[in-house]
Amino acid sequence: MKIVECAACGSKELVEDSGVVVCVYCQTKYLPERDDAPTRATVITVGSDIDALLQKCRDDPANIRQYVSLILDIDPTNVEAQKYLNLMRKKKKWWQ
Ligand SMILES: [Zn+2]
Repeated sequence: MKIVECAACGSKELVEDSGVVVCVYCQTKYLPERDDAPTRATVITVGSDIDALLQKCRDDPANIRQYVSLILDIDPTNVEAQKYLNLMRKKKKWWQ
């Protein structure tokens, strides 16, 4: 496996699952690199990645700032991520 680091979050914990490589940390999925493929891994299923990150916002609010940042990197217009961002701006620890 040539993919050694998640491009989305920098995690090195990547596992292969059903022909794709999945980051165990942020659930970003990659197509394993083939010999005839370009050097960079291809990010797929952006929509489900955002769903996974939004779920992490709810499950792990202590790190919500990081998750929201990742979501907005993928989809700057994501309404739910912007809502979290606005809440963070209004009140730093709104979840406590
Ligand atoms: Zn990751």
